[in-house]
Amino acid sequence: MVGNKFEITSQTYDLTNVRNQAGEWFDDVIDHRVDCTRCGRSYQIFTNTYHGTGNFTEGEAASDSSLIG
Ligand SMILES: [Zn+2]
Repeated sequence: MVGNKFEITSQTYDLTNVRNQAGEWFDDVIDHRVDCTRCGRSYQIFTNTYHGTGNFTEGEAASDSSLIG
């Protein structure tokens, strides 16, 4: 079975280490961008840890600064 794979193109913090040693999130907002290595589409993985929201969207989603804080 051949699956799609994603390649991280940018990140605000290391995906495998988004919590500190106290178990707290690195930041209120964690943002990763990935490209599909099969079709080349770009996706944004946006997480707002403060408000407990997030989304996975295709393309460059407009950053919503009102969600921060
Ligand atoms: Zn794809």
